[in-house]
Amino acid sequence: MAFTFLKRTQSWHTISPAGIALQSRIDKRSYAARSSVLERVVSAFRAVTGDDGVSLGATVREQHGKDESVHSCRPPDVVVWPQSVEEVSALAKICHHHRLPIIPFGTGTGLEGGVGAMKGGVCFSLRKMDRVLDLHQEDFDVTVEPGVTRKALNSYLRDTGLWFPVDPGADASLCGMAATSASGTNAVRYGTMRENVLNLEVVLADGTIFHTAGRGRRPRKTSAGYNLTNLFVGSEGTLGILTKATLRLYGIPEAVVSAVCSFPTIQAAVDSTVQILQAGIPIARIEFLDDVMIDACNRYNALSYPVAPTLFLEFHGSERSLEEQVTITEDITRENGGSDFSWARDVETRERLWKARHDAWYAALALRPGCKAYATDVCVPISRLPQILVETKEDLTKNRLTGPIAGHVGDGNFHCLMVLDPNDPHEEQRVHQFTDRLARRALALDGTCTGEHGVGLGKRLLLREEVGPLAMEVMQGLKATLDPKNLMNPGKVL
Ligand SMILES: Cc1cc2nc3c(=O)[nH]c(=O)nc-3n(C[C@H](O)[C@H](O)[C@H](O)COP(=O)(O)OP(=O)(O)OC[C@H]3O[C@@H](n4cnc5c(N)ncnc54)[C@H](O)[C@@H]3O)c2cc1C
Repeated sequence: MAFTFLKRTQSWHTISPAGIALQSRIDKRSYAARSSVLERVVSAFRAVTGDDGVSLGATVREQHGKDESVHSCRPPDVVVWPQSVEEVSALAKICHHHRLPIIPFGTGTGLEGGVGAMKGGVCFSLRKMDRVLDLHQEDFDVTVEPGVTRKALNSYLRDTGLWFPVDPGADASLCGMAATSASGTNAVRYGTMRENVLNLEVVLADGTIFHTAGRGRRPRKTSAGYNLTNLFVGSEGTLGILTKATLRLYGIPEAVVSAVCSFPTIQAAVDSTVQILQAGIPIARIEFLDDVMIDACNRYNALSYPVAPTLFLEFHGSERSLEEQVTITEDITRENGGSDFSWARDVETRERLWKARHDAWYAALALRPGCKAYATDVCVPISRLPQILVETKEDLTKNRLTGPIAGHVGDGNFHCLMVLDPNDPHEEQRVHQFTDRLARRALALDGTCTGEHGVGLGKRLLLREEVGPLAMEVMQGLKATLDPKNLMNPGKVL
């Protein structure tokens, strides 16, 4: 039991069970008094969720103190698994009363250290709230609980002819995706989470439950008041716990065609992208891989694509409209020197074609076994892409860094998948300096330091540079209004 453990180690901050961040108010008390507070807090949690809804185990806490990023593990003091919004609210009230930090946890696939408990506290794992609640087929929307993942939703929708297209690659929770404003390969056609969340149910730090667009509302558009839904999309758990999301759905396209094409230069690949978009082709995916990335993918998947800047494309529509889209695209890419086309219509060939792109993260890691990966995430106006890509590749070469590039080029968003030796502090430092330079290069080109992964722990200074002191003050004011005790995921974003 937790307190036995606490007594044995006598260490409050590192392993305290419900040590729970624990704010100086509790910290200043005697050991006996602290234990008694802890005991009360944990039994209050258990009264809400039952015994199996609370864990103080070291392994469980470690699993919940880390995501897929390179940021080190910062375990919470306690993990709770609420099963309803009422339970989330009751648990939040207990935390609020005792001034305990609250860290929402989806599936832990984040790439910016968002789930680390920087000040200890209580991890709210939303995994057990995994019901699809209201499906309105005729209105193309659905409401889900926070633990529903995008793959689970799409399996649920399989027989309806509908799907949810936002696809960050990982099988993330939909509310985690809302919290990070995720996107991915389909965003060029279907938008990001910002465009696809219609309403959110939120539990604030003090346990208040509210709906960002009004309870039960799900209009496709609205001009009613401030856009609170988009305030919470991308808030990374720092403003409240998302306990329901109402999402837009789309019809599954009648036909899909995929293609891969190589280019002599990065400029040629980007020019083709711009011209395809200018031609009004409703391209569903247009992904860029540089020569290093395609080489890694070839090795990892035993493929033989030319080692050159490459575009992966996908078209969605009716059979007739696809013919036209494909012909115009082929003309544009050929005029820009594109060659070695592979086209695929049936599911199996398409999946084989896209496998290289889908496995990019693992292919990059396989370049240096035993190393870890960190994905940068800048986004610039699309016309600036050739410049930033060329400069970035020169920077990587000059600094002897491994960083194959994969990008959602239709949105101007790309990632260098930095592969680094965790036991080489010099390399870590060079990567860190490189990622800062890259982000500042994006800012200098009117872009952003993060297109889809979020600010998390590592980009707080860059956020300040990006939006400026006045916008930061507005953000801090909003945070102070919604979470005056700074309990929601402290140490992140701001
Ligand atoms: C191989 C790989 C590829 C990826 N590719 C992409 C990509 O192409 N595009 C992209 O956008 N992302 C990508 N990601 C990142 C990741 O999948 C997204 O950031 C995802 O949105 C995180 O969802 P999650 O449920 O795992 O959230 P978590 O990692 O659990 O949490 C992320 C943040 O959201 C907060 N949070 C989680 N749930 C809630 C909630 N219910 N209420 C309030 N706050 C909450 C957490 O506190 C944390 O700050 C990739 C990740 C991997 C591992």
